[in-house]
Amino acid sequence: MDRVRAIMLWHRKGKAMRKGRYTHRGAGPTKKESDKSVEEIVKELKEIGASKNDYREQSLRIHGLICAKCAREFDYKDRHLLTVHHKDGNHKNNPPDGSNWENLCVYCHDDEHSRGLLGDYFSQDS
Ligand SMILES: [Zn+2]
Ligand SMILES: [Zn+2]
Repeated sequence: MDRVRAIMLWHRKGKAMRKGRYTHRGAGPTKKESDKSVEEIVKELKEIGASKNDYREQSLRIHGLICAKCAREFDYKDRHLLTVHHKDGNHKNNPPDGSNWENLCVYCHDDEHSRGLLGDYFSQDS
């Protein structure tokens, strides 16, 4: 009887100790949580990237792997050199028919924007 009680007490003690250690290791679970949040951030970034790639891939599919300006053609493996330009400059305007997209190679896209900044204002006035 006494032995059983002792064992029970020992068990309870052990449980309490383990419990105590658990709460004492607060940094452990916190670290795990921060790992999780990093995963979530990565997941979010991937989702943002996915939605970006989504209209990109759509535009490439609609308009083809060719620069709308210099007519340079790209292979599937080089398609990262093609960027999707928003004709009206509004990156949130993504009609599924691709009417606001233009596939431009990175060079032409740079060119388009460096000249476009002022050019767009003038063309809007005229
Ligand atoms: Zn080009
Ligand atoms: Zn652009």
